[in-house]
Amino acid sequence: MRGRFAPSPSGRMHLGNIYSALLSYLSAKKNGGEWILRIEDLDRQRCKKEYSIQLIDDLLWLGLKWDNFSLVEGGLSSEFFQSNRDSFYINAFDSLCRQGLVYDCFCKRADLLASSAPHASDGRAVYSGKCRNLSENEKSILYKTRSPAKRLIVEDRTASFSDGHFGLQTCSLASDCGDFIIRRADGNFSYQLAVVVDDALMGVDEVVRGRDLISSTFEQLYLYEKLDFDRAPTFYHLPLLVSEDGRRLSKREKDCDMGFLRENYSPEVLIGKILFLCGCIEKEESLSLSESVSAFDWQKVRKEDISIESTSKISG
Ligand code: GLU
Repeated sequence: MRGRFAPSPSGRMHLGNIYSALLSYLSAKKNGGEWILRIEDLDRQRCKKEYSIQLIDDLLWLGLKWDNFSLVEGGLSSEFFQSNRDSFYINAFDSLCRQGLVYDCFCKRADLLASSAPHASDGRAVYSGKCRNLSENEKSILYKTRSPAKRLIVEDRTASFSDGHFGLQTCSLASDCGDFIIRRADGNFSYQLAVVVDDALMGVDEVVRGRDLISSTFEQLYLYEKLDFDRAPTFYHLPLLVSEDGRRLSKREKDCDMGFLRENYSPEVLIGKILFLCGCIEKEESLSLSESVSAFDWQKVRKEDISIESTSKISG
């Protein structure tokens, strides 16, 4: 059994990120499984090498050592960075194209937001399918003005999966997901495509991550099917950590960032704090990593989002 943590190095990690890292680690270790690290640095503009180095250091400080640890390359070898894995994504992309499932989309982001397309439950715009049936003539005119993104055609049917934590999840692929982008106009592959290819090729059996990605899971499961991968992992989604005013913690706002946390707490205090916040222990106490493996229990993990007092005010 193999679990994973797949962070994007777009800023210093915060409490929400290490909460996902820790719970994915504990869930894998509780089952006697492996836990691997993969750096999702596809977005070359937002992701920086220095953030990858920092997140590797932050995880090791916490004691979370991945089973694909490499002595030679600063802790993680280059094949676990998505920026080095284009050849795998190209194969998958070509296979979808060969099946006639991919089309060029010339719509601009601003047009998509302004259009009256229905919106999925999480607020994302669902693509109207406008470019699905462009004629060759229309396309040849559009090619002169901009390069297209590549969208995957989704079928008009219901999709469902059983979430390890939240139970049965169902959606309508056409009206809740819509045709989605698998390769951006700049040539970069999308998160949805890359995460599926990587989890499949890296033999990941269990994905533990924030519940904000539940809607992406439908798109990812659709890709597993179309790419003919034997089996998809089991998905466990986590309640989100939110600040007092209900905002999700974000890297940009420096909420509970690892710099602050490392200055103020020991790894054991932080691990105990996370297990307390998520409901696995009844009172806040410091815990070693091995004690936290024993204390971790999916049955006890909360279902509702977890409100924390922000930054400097978290008690300890
Ligand atoms: N790289 C994504 C993020 O940091 C997480 C992807 C995943 O766990 O599937 O938000």
